[in-house]
Amino acid sequence: MSAASELQRAGIDFVLLEARDRVGGRVESKANCLGELYDTGGQFICDDMPEIMGLARTHGKTLVETPTRGDTIAQPPPHGRHDAEKVSAGSMALRRRLRKLDPNDPALSGLAVRAWVENQQAEPAVKMRFLSLIEGLWCVPAGLVPLWFIVDNDRRITNKVSELQYFLKETMHSLAADMARSLGKSLLLSEPVDRVETTASGVMVRTIREGYSANEVIIAVPPVMARKIIFHPSLPDAINNALASWKSGTVVKLLIRYAEPFWRRTGLSGSVIWVDPRGLYACDASHDDQHPALVVFLGGPIAVEWSSLGEEALKQEVLSRLVVALGSEAGTPLDILLRNWIDDTWSGGGYSDIVEVMNAIEAENALRRGFAGITFASSELSPSFPGYIEGAIIAGRLAVRPIIERLQSASATNASGS
Ligand SMILES: Cc1cc2nc3c(=O)[nH]c(=O)nc-3n(C[C@H](O)[C@H](O)[C@H](O)COP(=O)(O)OP(=O)(O)OC[C@H]3O[C@@H](n4cnc5c(N)ncnc54)[C@H](O)[C@@H]3O)c2cc1C
Repeated sequence: MSAASELQRAGIDFVLLEARDRVGGRVESKANCLGELYDTGGQFICDDMPEIMGLARTHGKTLVETPTRGDTIAQPPPHGRHDAEKVSAGSMALRRRLRKLDPNDPALSGLAVRAWVENQQAEPAVKMRFLSLIEGLWCVPAGLVPLWFIVDNDRRITNKVSELQYFLKETMHSLAADMARSLGKSLLLSEPVDRVETTASGVMVRTIREGYSANEVIIAVPPVMARKIIFHPSLPDAINNALASWKSGTVVKLLIRYAEPFWRRTGLSGSVIWVDPRGLYACDASHDDQHPALVVFLGGPIAVEWSSLGEEALKQEVLSRLVVALGSEAGTPLDILLRNWIDDTWSGGGYSDIVEVMNAIEAENALRRGFAGITFASSELSPSFPGYIEGAIIAGRLAVRPIIERLQSASATNASGS
């Protein structure tokens, strides 16, 4: 939608084909059993993300500061407060060390993040905490994800303040819905693209119902979804290989609504970082004092493992861990809204796709270059905040600008008759 808005501003005719019967993609909202809307996909933003903050302001959204006052709990608890701080600081130091690596250094080739962590000088508790952070943020097993990829990706996540600083009272999805409204009839829902043909005059983009001819096409879907589209003639090997290198992250998000913010009574913030199981994280996501809620994320192998138990058992696993961390009241919520993104039909997973092929160091660049009227754009390809809403906006804008220039200069040439 960010690319489409730019085309609209430039006065260029376009059509936006969306597979689902709603807009937003990995930004989505659903009502809980109390009828309250929650973001079940992308939600949190911060002051260091200028594009999404600007959009939220332009559309008159209300920023809610994520409540953070109080102590954060580590699970299982380290021995005493001093140790907890040491483990947390040690994990952040490992992250800084990782960011200093050069993703192009041949010494990193073939090395998974887990192998690198195991070779670092650090306490075992620090390494465990760091691995939990990696699996929680990138939603893939640390033993399978290439080190160069995480280095390159993490360097582009440049926020100094917490990425969970704010969320939108009206939901992030309401912002997507506002953007969709301003696109009017150029946006078509329930139109999954299954084939893109390159023609003498441009491209023919086909859905089950229709064919749309255009000068150019932007494939603004995650790489794993892009590789499901048939391209005719076939894309060059470099692009096919690039598309084949990605894997969807596995994530489950739960919004747990309570009658009271009971954790605050004992001086807790509601934030819980689990080291065991890895990739489990909770924090306060109360809209206000009348709507106390925790958000819980399961990222990476734990999401797959607990999903296999079934939805009810997954909820019980989460509640029992929250009871241990925050007290018995955590076990009696008013409602649990659960969204499992694993194998999602039109996104494949979340938070984003990850390059899983160890030597596919050109995977992103090959997609960024695109081919003959075909431009790829998704958050994954953004130079800034890849895998985030901010990155999606930037990737869309960057993809569309050269297209606007080409189309405007072609129309100027036609108008001058030369
Ligand atoms: C549970 C979860 C929590 C998250 N939390 C945050 C957060 O707090 N903050 C943050 O910044 N980011 C968060 N993210 C990540 C963020 O939501 C994504 O990075 C971002 O929304 C990606 O946007 P995109 O436009 O690149 O891709 P998408 O949102 O996936 O959009 C692609 C669109 O293409 C459509 N599509 C796919 N295939 C086809 C096809 N063949 N034909 C037509 N249409 C097709 C899809 O339906 C979708 O609407 C989260 C993601 C998840 C899943």
